[in-house]
Amino acid sequence: MKKVDPFNLMGPIYSSGPLSRLELARQARVAPSHVSIVVREMIDKGLVIESGFVPSTGGRRSGLIHVNPDAAQLLGIDVGRTNTSILVADLAGKVLAREWFPTRPSQGRESLLGVLHAEVQARLARFPRIAAIGLAHSGVVDPNAGKVLFWPMVEGWKDTPLRAVFEDAYGLEVSVEDRVRAMVLAERRSGNLAGLHNFILVYVGTGIMSAIFVDGHLYGGRNGLAGELGHTTVVEDGEPCSCGNRGCLERLSSAAAIVGRVRAELASGSFSLLVPEGNGSLENISIEEIVAAAQAHDRLAERVVAEAAQHLGIALASVVNLLNPESVILTGKVPQCAGDLLLGPLLYHLRQRAFPKAVEGLSVSVSKLGEEAAALGIALKAGEQVVKTLCRG
Ligand SMILES: [Zn+2]
Repeated sequence: MKKVDPFNLMGPIYSSGPLSRLELARQARVAPSHVSIVVREMIDKGLVIESGFVPSTGGRRSGLIHVNPDAAQLLGIDVGRTNTSILVADLAGKVLAREWFPTRPSQGRESLLGVLHAEVQARLARFPRIAAIGLAHSGVVDPNAGKVLFWPMVEGWKDTPLRAVFEDAYGLEVSVEDRVRAMVLAERRSGNLAGLHNFILVYVGTGIMSAIFVDGHLYGGRNGLAGELGHTTVVEDGEPCSCGNRGCLERLSSAAAIVGRVRAELASGSFSLLVPEGNGSLENISIEEIVAAAQAHDRLAERVVAEAAQHLGIALASVVNLLNPESVILTGKVPQCAGDLLLGPLLYHLRQRAFPKAVEGLSVSVSKLGEEAAALGIALKAGEQVVKTLCRG
């Protein structure tokens, strides 16, 4: 009989939720009798539990195998430009505690490292069963090297070996990952994407980034950098971008681009509900106000949001043609705030440009978890190594 690595059985339960023994056998391509033996061992180790049943279609009901939530606790930290989110979750992904603190990048590298250490130490004191730490980070992250390659907010940050620093300090498993690639792991666990194998999470906030799942695995590419959708060219001779290219999607459809476009048009005298009253400054106009104005049929706001959606739809048509996903989930401030106002024109242009066969049955929706998915996703990623060790130990 084919001997199976227990993690090959445990992996799908950990990443996407409870499964029956029969389904585990099917996914790992091993005999159900062998699965029963391995599941027994894992129940004895306290790594999984049996609870509830698969909906019956007649015959014997089969039990569902879950991750044992009490087998370990995980710490997830999402380091954002303005705020940092920190949470403790059990091994099944249930959030036990969640807090926020200001990131204050202007205070420099040593100050930020000091704050992160203090927050980690406080959680370890309260939750002594934390077995892994995950750091989700904005900017450009190299998950293999465990460090940030580009984050201009703090000088010298890109050279900081974050994973090594935290591993050495606490002797725990540590993962470092881009915050959008971390988000997709929580989306998958939350059930919205459970059972799907090919999908894309598209983050549209201050910047634009995507996370790609292919054949059930997060696609990292050669260096773990895959998914930089924001820096693909949409307008050949467009405006210069911080990445050195021109006409990037991020310069057209991000929250920063939408706000910038509205400000520029107001400054040149366009009529709009958004014209500040009295001494109000154009600098204070937010994406939320622009969306509210568009919902009230302000022409300028409607047009700028629709143009951003159009460029996003065109870019996604290429992605859908390339990868043929089952689902596209949109997350971040722009889709979360604009909803159907964005989805309508986006879907129109996506359908116009992509292969009809690739769009048929494709689900495009807005995430219910939003930005909060990053801290949970990175905690779950960090926990994967803990599960591997427990499975094989
Ligand atoms: Zn760019």
